[in-house]
Amino acid sequence: RATLGVVGGGQLGRMFVHAAQRLGYFTAVLEPDAQSPAGLVSHHHIQTDYDDPAGLAQLAQLCQAITTEFENVPAQVLRTLAQVRRVAPSAAVVSIAQNRIAEKAHFAACAEVSGVTCAPYAVIETPAQLQAVQAERTDLLPGILKTARMGYDGKGQVRIKTAAELAAAWAELGGVACVLEKMLPLTAECSVLVARGWDAQVVSFAPQRNVHVEGILAVTHAYEGTMPLALATRAREAAVAIAQHIGYVGVLCVEFFVVADGSEHGGLVVNEMAPRPHNSGHYTIDACDASQFDLQVYAMAGLPLPQPRQHSPAIMLNLLGDVWFDAHGQPQEPNWYAVLRLPGTHLHLYGKLEARAGRKMGHLTITGPDVASVKTVARRAAELLSLPGLDAI
Ligand code: ATP
Ligand code: MG
Ligand code: MG
Repeated sequence: RATLGVVGGGQLGRMFVHAAQRLGYFTAVLEPDAQSPAGLVSHHHIQTDYDDPAGLAQLAQLCQAITTEFENVPAQVLRTLAQVRRVAPSAAVVSIAQNRIAEKAHFAACAEVSGVTCAPYAVIETPAQLQAVQAERTDLLPGILKTARMGYDGKGQVRIKTAAELAAAWAELGGVACVLEKMLPLTAECSVLVARGWDAQVVSFAPQRNVHVEGILAVTHAYEGTMPLALATRAREAAVAIAQHIGYVGVLCVEFFVVADGSEHGGLVVNEMAPRPHNSGHYTIDACDASQFDLQVYAMAGLPLPQPRQHSPAIMLNLLGDVWFDAHGQPQEPNWYAVLRLPGTHLHLYGKLEARAGRKMGHLTITGPDVASVKTVARRAAELLSLPGLDAI
């Protein structure tokens, strides 16, 4: 009986477990939380800290191959496991994705083959660098100061307009290693999912267009025509080149900015990458014949990677904890009955016991025969649930 392992117990681990089980695999989840979304549905739940040597030994003993589902898994954990088992993605590539400074250096190193660069930026790790940037890099203003490590959903970021604001912003972020990035006039954002096997076989999905509200993904549009074809092709080729260049194994998501043509940095700009399936790829479960989680399973298990085919246009709406509270802040159960009566709605709830504002509790994917009907249903569902981003559907 083959068993596949995952470090981390969140919703990405849960959907990985579902995909693995469908193919007949047993699963093991390493996660300290007793009530985690993935731990609750896995055959084995090793309930210890991620870096507990006994837990890691048990995971390695149970599993043929091991992956991770959260970005900030200690790279050392993956290194330890890799001494005895197949681990994908590797500690080396995960460390790059965990640090914006290393990540941007990687994007720069493969810019010639990927054809894309990231937004202009400067590294700030010391007070001397801070002063130098203040004095010499006014080209980066207005800009966004981002911590090099641990940021997600727009956390660990401060937007600044003037050089004078920079010192306070750096102090606010704790004086840790940061990058100051030029604020670009975005016309859209998109992301591309790539899967690459141990044998270097690569498949990818078409780019999906993402709408963020307050730094958190709110809506994903996934259908032909959601982006101009030339841009979509460029983004897809760039993501594949970025994965190839680091010998990536597993599922990788690359995020891009689309900047107005004619402006200084016009065109396609690479933002960051996530070394795992991604929130913006959840639509693939219901709209494609192989999902991003299926591909993660295939890649880990050393099976041939199917080139996925999208069979329906789709829109995904993220369901944050806010939906579980009414306008007066009182807890309420969302009206799933009304939502599920709409045609082509696919509800995914992650089994989290406590709803909190901003917490990812689930998502709703809408599929249909054509883009117009998918949009109509998505709008209606967003209205029923008072979701943000309604005007972006
Ligand atoms: P994630 O949850 O996707 O990992 P994150 O916290 O790592 O997000 P980013 O993706 O870097 O942060 O930024 C969050 C959002 O802020 C972006 O999706 C984009 O909307 C906006 N943003 C970030 N950098 C820039 C920029 N240089 N110019 C304009 N907008 C930006
Ligand atoms: Mg990020
Ligand atoms: Mg991002």
